[in-house]
Amino acid sequence: MAERVLVGAGVGNGVGIGPVFRVIDRNQRELSSAIGSRHNLSVIRAAIDAVADEIEQASGREDVDAVMSALGMMLRDASLLEQVKARLADGVSADRAIRGAFAQFARSLASLGGYFAERSDDLVALAEKVIDTLAGVDEVQLPTNPYVLVTDNLSPMVASKLDPAIVRAVITRAGTPTSHTGIVLRSVKIPSVVGVNAIDLLVDGVDVLVDASSGQIFVEPSAEELENYSRAEVFDEVLPPIAIGELPVTVLANLGSSAEAVAAHRVGAQGVGLFRTELLFLGRQDPPTLDEQVLEYTRLLSQFEGQRVVVRVLDTDTDKPLPFLFTAGSGKYANRGFQVLLANQSILDTQLEALSIAQNNVPKSDLWVMAPMVITASEANEFARSAKAHGIRNIGIMVEVPELVEVLDDALEQIDFVSIGTNDLAQYTLGKNRHGVGAEISDARDPRVVSLIRRVVESASARKIPVGVCGEAAADLESSKMFVELGVDSLSASPALIPALRESLKRLP
Ligand code: PEP
Ligand code: MG
Repeated sequence: MAERVLVGAGVGNGVGIGPVFRVIDRNQRELSSAIGSRHNLSVIRAAIDAVADEIEQASGREDVDAVMSALGMMLRDASLLEQVKARLADGVSADRAIRGAFAQFARSLASLGGYFAERSDDLVALAEKVIDTLAGVDEVQLPTNPYVLVTDNLSPMVASKLDPAIVRAVITRAGTPTSHTGIVLRSVKIPSVVGVNAIDLLVDGVDVLVDASSGQIFVEPSAEELENYSRAEVFDEVLPPIAIGELPVTVLANLGSSAEAVAAHRVGAQGVGLFRTELLFLGRQDPPTLDEQVLEYTRLLSQFEGQRVVVRVLDTDTDKPLPFLFTAGSGKYANRGFQVLLANQSILDTQLEALSIAQNNVPKSDLWVMAPMVITASEANEFARSAKAHGIRNIGIMVEVPELVEVLDDALEQIDFVSIGTNDLAQYTLGKNRHGVGAEISDARDPRVVSLIRRVVESASARKIPVGVCGEAAADLESSKMFVELGVDSLSASPALIPALRESLKRLP
């Protein structure tokens, strides 16, 4: 399997593969002190106007034009130049005056929330563009061969000029799927993942596979992953919803942000089988507030009215320690999974409360909530108790470690559904590192793993509890057939992989 998988918010539907090209740290560029005096106000005004003029040049695409003219208006706002002027009068250099003024304007937009808040990132990128124009700095020379652009922040203007034949995908640290840049990237059809906190792990020249439909970035993808996704890369159709009875099992989508719902609908998914909530928590000093979470979960549920949406509560990973969490456990499962949430009950309670409020906000929602990496029966019971106390109606656990299978009958007492995470179940059963040498998607077909899955299906079926599979293997055509034969009820996969999965399942007897 890939050397590592990074997560962010996907923008668009497609998949892009190519070597990384980084354009990072533009903020730290040394600018000449020659532009540091108050006498430059008229020069700065000219630079802002030049950037606004450039932005407003019609692209011919309606949605892009609308974004650009909104940005042009923001740039021409008289209060912005006033702010710059005030800072210059205080004796700060031009570049700092511009950054400061734009940042303040961005903050005032952010405080308005919603649509305006999402525009604020665009301003930060535009400040850099104005500074570059002022300093006469040329735009970075981009490669002429296909590549994946990795950058802190991308202005909508630069995004609108990217050539999808060369720029196979974009990965940014900042940004949201609904920012201006996100809208433009979707329009120019470049698969993108934004809000990726860990972009520093992406090294120039390393191959990455960017799955915009599920917000995942596979670093140095394996031959198996490339093969799976090679079918997805050419797929650009919109499929009708999967009809009841069309397939032998329910086919659901794996998503990492509510903006990816569009990708799930394009391929006709019957709901969401794994909503990873990590993105809300990563890259922050403090946990997300109740309100922030309610907004995201309500957005998600409102796009799947009448369809199952399985949300997984926070799954921590030793790869990505979060500063606001107490650590828990020891040995191979130290600081992983549900035990960490039990050691941080207030974080769990806030998340469950937010999910419950969102469930009530969307009366036709069908919310299922599950805990990751449950190890013992008492953890399962504890999760069920907490979730019930918050009014969650469908409560599940993930089977990702072999120890849980040994106590499954006790663990299922209070549980309504089970989801098998084959990525972790295979690595922990076979003693491999899922991101290490020799780990393959086909590990889910190793007899030791299959025997565990069989036991899970037997225990759950005896209690009439549905069992799904949501690891990467769910979309592997050979493994998926095996899961169906073993008797699972649902398969959940990245939207990009659903068309091929759907075709393959249709052919099963
Ligand atoms: C899994 O382990 O199979 C799974 C779906 O969880 P994640 O990949 O997020 O660890
Ligand atoms: Mg897992």
